[in-house]
Order: sequence, then structure tokens, then C-alpha cells
Amino acid sequence: MTSPVRCNRCRTGVYDLGTVTVTARYADCSMWNTPCCGSLVDDRGETGWKTFKDYERIDPNRQDPWGVDIYGIMRHG
Ligand SMILES: [Zn+2]
Repeated sequence: MTSPVRCNRCRTGVYDLGTVTVTARYADCSMWNTPCCGSLVDDRGETGWKTFKDYERIDPNRQDPWGVDIYGIMRHG
């Protein structure tokens, strides 16, 4: 994975921004369907156009990103 993110629509899906199929590309954002729950999302949450972020970036340098983001939710959710 090059740009792993956690989906904020279903809050459990994890996917790579580099592998999504962009369905629409505008000057200020791109839109795509998430592979986890099929939600139509865009990247305006990152550029400040809207307050709700459709996804949260996962720091690939963190010690155990998958353990926290996937299994942490399952354990505590
Ligand atoms: Zn999702």
C-alpha cells in the first residue's frame, strides 16, 4: 500500500488511495467509490472544502497501523 486510509463511512474499511478507480475528476477534487462499502466519496475533506472527512489517512510509518486501525476497532467496538 502506498496511501493507506481508513474509511469514515463504514469506519471499518481500509483501502489504498492509489488503487481506487476515480469516477470523476474536478479541478478541486476527485471522486471514487470505496472498495469497502461502495460509498461515493471525495477528497475535499483534506483540502478543507468540507468538515467531514470521507477517510482518514493512516500513517504508514506507525509501528502497527493495521493492528490499531482494524483490530482495535473490532476489540473495542
Ligand atoms: Zn467503507
